[in-house]
Formats: sequence, C-alpha cells, structure tokens
Amino acid sequence: MTSLHHTLTILGATGSIGVSTLDVVARYPERFSVYALTGASQIDKLFEQSLQFKPRYAVVLDDLAAESLRARLHAAGSQTEVRCGEAALIEVSTAPEVTAVMAAIVGAAGMPPTLAAARAGKRVLLANKETLVLAGQLFMDAVNASGAELLPIDSEHNAIFQVLPRAHREHPYAQTLQDVGVRRILLTASGGPFRTRPIETFDAITPAEAVKHPKWSMGRKISVDSASLMNKGLEVIEARWLFNARLDEISVVVHPQSIVHSMVEYTDGSVLAQLGEPDMRTPIAYGLAYPERVDAGVRALDLFAAGRLDFEAPDYDRFPCLRLAFDALRAGGAAPAVLNAANEIAVAAFLDGKLPFNGIPVLIEAVLADCVTDCRAETLADLLAADTLARECATRRLT
Ligand code: NDP
Ligand code: MG
Repeated sequence: MTSLHHTLTILGATGSIGVSTLDVVARYPERFSVYALTGASQIDKLFEQSLQFKPRYAVVLDDLAAESLRARLHAAGSQTEVRCGEAALIEVSTAPEVTAVMAAIVGAAGMPPTLAAARAGKRVLLANKETLVLAGQLFMDAVNASGAELLPIDSEHNAIFQVLPRAHREHPYAQTLQDVGVRRILLTASGGPFRTRPIETFDAITPAEAVKHPKWSMGRKISVDSASLMNKGLEVIEARWLFNARLDEISVVVHPQSIVHSMVEYTDGSVLAQLGEPDMRTPIAYGLAYPERVDAGVRALDLFAAGRLDFEAPDYDRFPCLRLAFDALRAGGAAPAVLNAANEIAVAAFLDGKLPFNGIPVLIEAVLADCVTDCRAETLADLLAADTLARECATRRLT
C-alpha cells in the first residue's frame, strides 16, 4: 500500500536510528504522525520524545520503567498511554491504524515485532538487519505472503534498492537478478577504524577506540560490528535475502570515504551507484516518503571537498568475522542465527572489558562449531531456540 500520509510506529525510538527518524518526521507533520514510540533503558529520552510527538502509546520493556514513565507523563498532562513487554511491541507494530513501522531495535530482540509488522502487511522500514540474519527465509516469506512493503534503511541496501530496476526492488522474488540484467551487487564497506592499524596491536584495542567510527555516528553494537567487519558480514546476509541474490552475486568493496553507499553491476557493463553524505537521514527519508523524495535535512554532497574516491579488496585475514559470515550463509540452516547470537554475546563481552577485540571471531567460530549441528531452522521456534542455545554456549565459554 502506498499512501502519502503515514501513521508510524518507531521501534527503538531512543536509539541512533530512532532519533534520526524523528528528526525527519518532525519536518513533515502533515505527512507523518506517530502512533507509538518504544525504548528500553533511556526512559528520560522516551519521556521527552513522547511530549514532543504525542504518540498514542509509549512502550518500554519492564513494569518498573512503565510505572515511572506513566507517572511522569500523567503529571505533564500527556495523553500517551504506556505499555510494556514484547506483546506490547507486537501490538503497536500490527495495530490497524499503523501504516508503517520503523524497525530500529538493536539485535535479535528486534526480530519478533519486525516479523509481526511484515505479517500484518505494513510498510516495514528495516534498519534491524539482525532480523534477516536470524530469520531471513521466514521474514521474506511473510513479506511475500502479506504484500508488506519492505524498504531497506541500512545505507548500503538502501543504495542498492535505489539503483535496482523498480520491478526487482519491489518484487525481488518474482524473478532472479539475472532476469533483470544484474550481474553483481557491490556492497561497499568503510573498512572501519582499524583498516590500517598494525594487526599485531589488535589485542590492545579498547572499546572506546572500537566505537569511534571514522565516518558514521551509530549505536555501540553496530559500531563494534563495523570495526570487526562483522557488520559487513551481516549485511551480505541481509542483501542475500532482500534482493534474492546468490552468494556469488554479492561482492564486498572497501571504500574508506563512505560516499558511494553501494553499487549494482549490470550485464551490459554499466555500474550504477548511489552517493551521498554519510547521514542516515537520507535512507530514512527515502523509506518514509517512497516513492517520492523529500528534503531530509542532509547537506548536499560536495564532490570537490571529497576530492577522491578509493576502492580496495577486503582483507579477510585482518577481519575473520567477514569470512565467518560468508561461511555461515553458505552453510545455511541455523548457522546465521547462531553466528548472530554468538556475535551479540561477544560484542557485549568486549564492551564490558571481558573479551579482547581479537577474541570476538574466536568465540563466534567456537560457538558455531559447538552448536550448529544441534539446531533446526524450519520454524520460528527453531530459530529462537538456536538463538538461545548459541547465547548459552557463548556465555559458558566466557566464564
Ligand atoms: P542504538 O543502540 O542506538 O539503539 C537501539 C534501540 O533499541 C534503542 O532505542 C534501545 O533502547 C532499543 N533496545 C535495545 N535493546 C532492546 C531490547 N532488548 N528490546 C527492545 N528495545 C531495545 O542502535 P542503532 O540505532 O545504531 O541501531 C539500531 C538498528 O539499526 C541495529 O539493528 C543496527 O544494526 C541498525 N542500523 C543502524 C545504523 C546506524 O547508523 N545507527 C545503520 C544501519 C543499520 P534504549 O536506548 O532506550 O535502551
Ligand atoms: Mg550499513
């Protein structure tokens, strides 16, 4: 369904993508209204956002947070109702009034409400790539069955979406990439903060160094993923599902300037790219307004200031996480779900000072070897069980 006006639920409103989404929404009060905002730990921020955007619902994770937010909103004269828990996240993602859902919770926790929005046939603005890593087949089946409109927000996938033929981007499972004259998807990667750091110093990398991305300002988990290149690995899996691509139709290209956000190579030799400032408001505004275009508040790209664009091949020895993700996609079944869960535990342990940066791929590889063969991947319950098992296995190895 395409409509000029959208009533939105923003899952993960208090995060980096959530805040950028609300920045775009605030520019177009006649186009967008907010039905629900959700958060987890940042209750002050959710309170402020609720006063400003006046959603019907604000959703948090637990009773305690709900009580305190409810009292504060009530005292401030707000009409916003407070709900809590996963069932509430699903309710606000499927309510009949809602036309579009921004899926911007971080990690596997974002999957259930995102899948529910797809099943309910909403416009799904997909930032939460972990949904496709964990449950790619199920999610795409749900989109195809319900007629949900899937708009990628991840900047690379948004770029690819923009330069694919319209028939393929809107109905990627109606034909193959080859059928529409596409030879390859060229997924760009900045290379992260450690692209040129001497590899023998990797064990001394601190969380502060890892979350300081040279080009993008993002949440902590995805920043660490960008530093290990696991983010690119997750994005390869994401691209496989979004665009109905085979693994050999996806290539990773390191491009440190982060100006070319990705490219599509056609059989006639043409390569189409989308370029822009590294600012998530561009893909967010594209997804919100699709198929129209609106001013996202992003400054114009200054090619003369950029000066040059460099491209290089990825270094799999330096960044084993990228290879692990390719291997997991090739293995199929529950391997990507296990990879994702092990990575979440590894990144949290690294941020906590309990695992060196180098230890991230080591832990993931060990968890894959330990538990993939015990996991099934037919149903949602199977995948959630694989996710739980991998987390337990990773946690056990850490202690
Ligand atoms: P942030 O960490 O900044 O925000 C995460 C959001 O999810 C916050 O609103 C947080 O609430 C909420 N949240 C955290 N844990 C839970 C949970 N268990 N249940 C429900 N809600 C939870 O992340 P980003 O905004 O950077 O990323 C969000 C998603 O978008 C990720 O999947 C990421 O990979 C993807 N993405 C992000 C990009 C970026 O530029 N930031 C680019 C491309 C993709 P609170 O803060 O209140 O605790
Ligand atoms: Mg990205």
